[in-house]
Amino acid sequence: MGTPKSADVIVVGAGNAALVAALSAAEAGATVAVLEAAPKTTRGGNSRFSGGIFRIAHDGMDHLRPLLTDEALVWADKVELDPYPPERYLHDLTVTSHGQSDPALIGELVHRSYETVAWMKEQGVRWELVVDKLFDPDNFDPDETYTLPPGGALRATHEGLGLMHDLFAAVDATPAIEVVHDAPAHDLIMDGSACRGVRVRGQAGFAEYRGSVVLASGGFESNPRKRLQHLGTGWDLVKVRGTAFNMGTMLDAALDAGAAPSGHWSGAHASPLDADAPPVGQLALTDKLSRYSYPYGILLNRDGERFVDEASDEVWLTYAKTGSAIREQPGAWAVQIFDQRTVRLLEPRYSTANPVEADTIGELARKLDLPVAAAERTVEAYNAATTADGEFEPFVKDGRSTAVALTPPKSNWALPLDRPPFVAYPVCCGITFTYGGLHIDTDARVIDTTGRAMPNLYATGEIAGGFFYHNYPAGSGLVRGAVFGRIAGISAAGGR
Ligand SMILES: Cc1cc2nc3c(=O)[nH]c(=O)nc-3n(C[C@H](O)[C@H](O)[C@H](O)COP(=O)(O)OP(=O)(O)OC[C@H]3O[C@@H](n4cnc5c(N)ncnc54)[C@H](O)[C@@H]3O)c2cc1C
Repeated sequence: MGTPKSADVIVVGAGNAALVAALSAAEAGATVAVLEAAPKTTRGGNSRFSGGIFRIAHDGMDHLRPLLTDEALVWADKVELDPYPPERYLHDLTVTSHGQSDPALIGELVHRSYETVAWMKEQGVRWELVVDKLFDPDNFDPDETYTLPPGGALRATHEGLGLMHDLFAAVDATPAIEVVHDAPAHDLIMDGSACRGVRVRGQAGFAEYRGSVVLASGGFESNPRKRLQHLGTGWDLVKVRGTAFNMGTMLDAALDAGAAPSGHWSGAHASPLDADAPPVGQLALTDKLSRYSYPYGILLNRDGERFVDEASDEVWLTYAKTGSAIREQPGAWAVQIFDQRTVRLLEPRYSTANPVEADTIGELARKLDLPVAAAERTVEAYNAATTADGEFEPFVKDGRSTAVALTPPKSNWALPLDRPPFVAYPVCCGITFTYGGLHIDTDARVIDTTGRAMPNLYATGEIAGGFFYHNYPAGSGLVRGAVFGRIAGISAAGGR
């Protein structure tokens, strides 16, 4: 072991949560060492793979305008956006988590969401509107109004790649922050419940970094063994949408040191992913293999059966649980089927897929190796349950549901599937991140099993539990990491 190094604050990880914590600690006057397990080329965690969407509470477009770059302002006059008040944000978090989120933590997340992204803008992060994620604006009828989902309207320019580019640029411009790559933290240096630093695993021994510690090293989604252990049988085999580096090492180290576990340990954010996606995310593709247009079609499993209400709510409130529903099907596989009524509405990123096309459902089923009679029966039953009542409105929940008893129902956008050619996209389950983590308080302090804060130990981002259960509103992960990263940085620097 070499001579221990020291900084006022040691940040473990180099994703969004970590770099926000580092910038915040430096702003509070601390020297900071950022320890990143990955080499420089693949640094930045899931944050770099992300769509860069930040779900924040706001009062409508005029409230967002001051955050946007000049280029992004062009869109502000072309699209519609309802306000997203804190109460609605809290409602969405509460409903998706079945009421199990820690009220104090989600209250802090929501109420500090806007001010945190405004502060990130001051650090150099550029913001724009999410105009081309779910729909391709070039495909619109000029009479159609493009309405942004109020909770999913803001993102970092150039998505996760741009977010991490801007955050690393801010970090590099801050002399008080040093980033160390290829530095996998292995365990904590503890003195009873008080944290004194971190031990980093090197090729030929350990290196010690001494200081207050902010853990921002992600969940355990990249680790098949831990997925099997906590999420259950079959989860070891799912594909990982993002980074290969979030192994849960420091989550376990903190628990071993006495930290209390919190949250939904058997739950994870998992969404529909192209069936041909690689086993782990690739930065050249980031999130371009996600497949979120299923509310405009139907989902069939290998038996040719529907198994989920494809449109129980707006897609940003359902996609994070739909991956798990696909994983439960035979072969952990499903296929999204569209016809010519809605195919123009598919996300632009569907262009990365190789769809299967046919003029009849029977022919499509044959090409997909599905039982033909079952697939035909399912589509006939679905079509018979659709109704001509109510207008199809693609960009808002239209309430156009299947009208007669159908199991499962389809609650919105239930157009019949009858305009060939039919187009099919095979999908699997892609895990995004895990929900179980460390118990923290609103000062981002790690709480131990006796209910007391552990001196000098803080946590933010995916490694913290108590926020998300069962499901998740899109864009809350980055905000959670940023809000509590900013708090953790100040706390660890001794200012809170
Ligand atoms: C494809 C995809 C799209 C997404 N889109 C969005 C979106 O648009 N909006 C949204 O809010 N969320 C999105 N998410 C989720 C979001 O990316 C995460 O919730 C968020 O990035 C987590 O941030 P974090 O900083 O906690 O973790 P990460 O960004 O994953 O960072 C963890 C860091 O810790 C490092 N690390 C791990 N172990 C160690 C160790 N032992 N020692 C040192 N370093 C370690 C990793 O290398 C990494 O740098 C998406 C995720 C994916 C995969």
